[in-house]
Amino acid sequence: MNNYEVWFVTGAQLLYGGDAVIAVDAHSNEMVAGLNAGGKLPVKVVYKGTANSSKEVEAVMKAANNDDRCIGLITWMHTFSPAKMWIHGLQQLRKPLLHLHTQYNREIPWDTMDMDFMNLNQSAHGDREFGHICTRMRIRRKVVVGHWQDEETQRKIAVWMRACAGWADAQDMLILRFGDQMNNVAVTDGDKVEAEQRLGYHVDYCPVSELMTYHARVKDEEVDALVADYFASYDHDAALEDKTTEAYQKVWNSAKAELALRAILQAKGAKGFTTNFDDLGQTDGSFFDQIPGLASQRLMAEGYGFGAEGDWKSAALYRTVWVMSQGVGCSFLEDYTLNFDGANSSILQAHMLEVCPLIAAARPRLEVHFLGIGIRKSLTVRLVFTSKTGTGCTATVIDLGNRFRLIVNDVECIEPKPLPKLPVASALWIPMPNFEVGAGAWILAGGTHHSCFSYGLSAEYWEDYAEIAGIEMVHIHKDTTLSEFKKELRMNEVYYMLNKALC
Ligand code: MN
Repeated sequence: MNNYEVWFVTGAQLLYGGDAVIAVDAHSNEMVAGLNAGGKLPVKVVYKGTANSSKEVEAVMKAANNDDRCIGLITWMHTFSPAKMWIHGLQQLRKPLLHLHTQYNREIPWDTMDMDFMNLNQSAHGDREFGHICTRMRIRRKVVVGHWQDEETQRKIAVWMRACAGWADAQDMLILRFGDQMNNVAVTDGDKVEAEQRLGYHVDYCPVSELMTYHARVKDEEVDALVADYFASYDHDAALEDKTTEAYQKVWNSAKAELALRAILQAKGAKGFTTNFDDLGQTDGSFFDQIPGLASQRLMAEGYGFGAEGDWKSAALYRTVWVMSQGVGCSFLEDYTLNFDGANSSILQAHMLEVCPLIAAARPRLEVHFLGIGIRKSLTVRLVFTSKTGTGCTATVIDLGNRFRLIVNDVECIEPKPLPKLPVASALWIPMPNFEVGAGAWILAGGTHHSCFSYGLSAEYWEDYAEIAGIEMVHIHKDTTLSEFKKELRMNEVYYMLNKALC
């Protein structure tokens, strides 16, 4: 977040004389300093001065487009800012836009207010003029209304900033696919050209044989050091440290796989990857002796996007979740098994191995168990834990053929019972508003069995992200009913069919 800036541009005009613009400028400076000092915003706000003409608007928009640090633009119309002067600039703006409807002065000074004061506190109508041109031009933006010093106003700006950061990060995101989609699965596939055009990320096949050249170069000392780190970081049976056992060798091989994966991701500048458990390298060369589940778990925690079985959309979305939340409690998950239990009916979320330890309720446990799936059935290392309880939100993106749809479901993580015979990491949740409606709506929307979960990112973050990306979003929440949700899906079908620019 420290590498990013959000620019603040104040709309004004010269009608009220140069002194008024100087006063506007002073107010804006004070407000931006106040926003930065509030401690609520994850990204620094940089004041870019007043824009008093079409030329000045266009200049600042072009500069925003070309500055890699700038991830978004906040506009505020201090005085009446004739909106025709925004047309050319808005036509060119390619960065996310937040329109802040606020006012320097909090309350009307009833006893002293005169016409000069009025001229300097005109956002009440100035912001409506600006809003009109944005709506007329169909400019996607977030509108935040509130006094700039209020906590809630700053919270809404902070949410948008995190969505901007996720968006900026995705614009040069490379996802490496080690192997293709698995087993004819439809929902994890999609149009990778459209994904790059619409969502920014580049998804590229990487031969496992190339990964194995990195594997072959990993040094034994590095592996030894990482194994020591595992034993220091995770609970485990003391017997696992016995170097003469097969289980120890499996831990050692897991560490080598992690180092190989990290090395190739770093070398290629990739932000995420997918795996395919039917391709782990050829045994006559360098190869993975087990599915690299532990590596995927740990790389996810570091912020690398991950999708199992070739699921590149989940890999990219997980990376965005990690960036937006800065790694606070998030994971790739899969709907595993249903638990019918009346009002507490829930879904066990897990994966064969690959669940991110950032959601763990307690210190994860390093375990080695036989895994009878994939090309190399083997004792396999994994971190075992259960998730924290509490509210969260899970999200997925699907390709509908003519557009991407972001599906978001609020969920409640509840206490699971022990699973002594299923040594994998897991979460147990009730999708909102309840299991029947939540799961029903998700299925009607065409949602994946994989999704990207987080405790910290509410649907508001996803709404801002979808607005920036210009993609459809449907939100399944505590008030969702299936009949209303079906209407929304039908209406969206018409909207996106007519609005070709968003398809
Ligand atoms: Mn899966």
